[in-house]
Amino acid sequence: MSWFKKLFGGGAQDKPAAETPAAPATKKTPAAPAAKEVAADAAPEPVEAAMEEAPVEEAPVEEAPAEEAPAEEAPAAAPAPAAPRADVSLTGSVLVVAEVRDGSIFSGTLSAIAAGKAISAEKGTHFDLLVMGSGVSDAASTLTGYGAQQVLVADDSSLVNYLAMPYAATASAAADARGSSFVVALASTLGKDLLPRVAVRIGAGMISEAVGIAGSENGHIVFNRPMWAGNVIASVQCVTERTVVSIRGTDFDKAAETGGSSEIVAIAADGATDLQTFVELAKTESERPDLSEASVVVTGGRGLKDGENFYKIMEPLADSLGAAIGASRAAVDAGFCPNDLQIGQTGKVVAPDLYIAVAISGAIQHLAGMKKSKTIVAINTNEEAAIFQVADYGLVADAFEVVPELAEKVKASKAG
Ligand SMILES: Cc1cc2nc3c(=O)[nH]c(=O)nc-3n(C[C@H](O)[C@H](O)[C@H](O)COP(=O)(O)OP(=O)(O)OC[C@H]3O[C@@H](n4cnc5c(N)ncnc54)[C@H](O)[C@@H]3O)c2cc1C
Repeated sequence: MSWFKKLFGGGAQDKPAAETPAAPATKKTPAAPAAKEVAADAAPEPVEAAMEEAPVEEAPVEEAPAEEAPAEEAPAAAPAPAAPRADVSLTGSVLVVAEVRDGSIFSGTLSAIAAGKAISAEKGTHFDLLVMGSGVSDAASTLTGYGAQQVLVADDSSLVNYLAMPYAATASAAADARGSSFVVALASTLGKDLLPRVAVRIGAGMISEAVGIAGSENGHIVFNRPMWAGNVIASVQCVTERTVVSIRGTDFDKAAETGGSSEIVAIAADGATDLQTFVELAKTESERPDLSEASVVVTGGRGLKDGENFYKIMEPLADSLGAAIGASRAAVDAGFCPNDLQIGQTGKVVAPDLYIAVAISGAIQHLAGMKKSKTIVAINTNEEAAIFQVADYGLVADAFEVVPELAEKVKASKAG
């Protein structure tokens, strides 16, 4: 236990109150600091308990007579699910964690809100929103019209850059203070890093990359999630009392404003630590739309042969359409472009209105990241290429000839 206390104990509660900037909130929640105090001691219990309750049975190999066939190894007992903290009374409600990028709420958050709303409707409860960061009060105030009961705001200089420990501690304390039975966020880079840590802290089971909610069974919500590069959709349930869910933004419509005004509640940041230090955010500056938000995506593959060709062919096309540029993994692995352009099972998942795949074969792992696009266009010299099976429009042609021509024609039609 002591190692865990060392990691997660102490924190913001040790800081003098004056260090926390005043939040422009209408109300301070009294529950959050109390929850915080307990979090340092109590949250780790389930982890330790889970480890202690999962003894691996002794192998009987030594006692078995030499001539006998070795006894079948008993399967190791599955670790017991972590138990929620006893002092948190659960309300069945949902806490949706918003994501702030460059001072504004990232649009994918609206899909997480839609998922959170659907869960709360299924459970007949309310949902809350949580915004974490520094100088995020204005961003948080844009979320008051989506039907949340409360918009919790942890606005603190310790949260200026995303770090797993303080963000996870703050989100867990918020979930405990609200008695949230569900914590939901986008399966973005941040969400994938944050949510498993929250699940451990609050003793919850976790559903990753949910793509749908398929009602309830035996009192537990049934979620759909893809398996095997999206070839199979599994229906899964968490039988733990609390559930943490990351959702795929491309599979949930963005929530619309419903009017009304949620109460804004300031909460304290938690879990300040010197075990993690923010060093640098190496950000790709681009005039183009963000790949995961763009309505048009043009993607180049290994058929473009090298990095110089990749940009020579793809940039004019992207510019003519106002599109984001993506790439196949083969193009990324070959060093044509940086890996944050990769689309697919191990890259980004996109679902734009228009997706143009240039010199991409259409491997299953690539399709996993783009097949939900509304209109798919494929350009490939090989008419047998698998990409044509998912394409709405296909052009069997040499990309080096037709793509520059296409870009010119789009440009001309826009100018005219
Ligand atoms: C665990 C795992 C995870 C993976 N994750 C991903 C992932 O996230 N994303 C991903 O993309 N891949 C992923 N892959 C790799 C995937 O299996 C393929 O190898 C990759 O997608 C192939 O990329 P490509 O289509 O660019 O290249 P290729 O398969 O080499 O296809 C190139 C295509 O270009 C065409 N072509 C050649 N010249 C021209 C021309 N002049 N004009 C037009 N067309 C031309 C060819 O006919 C061919 O169809 C993963 C693989 C594994 C095992």
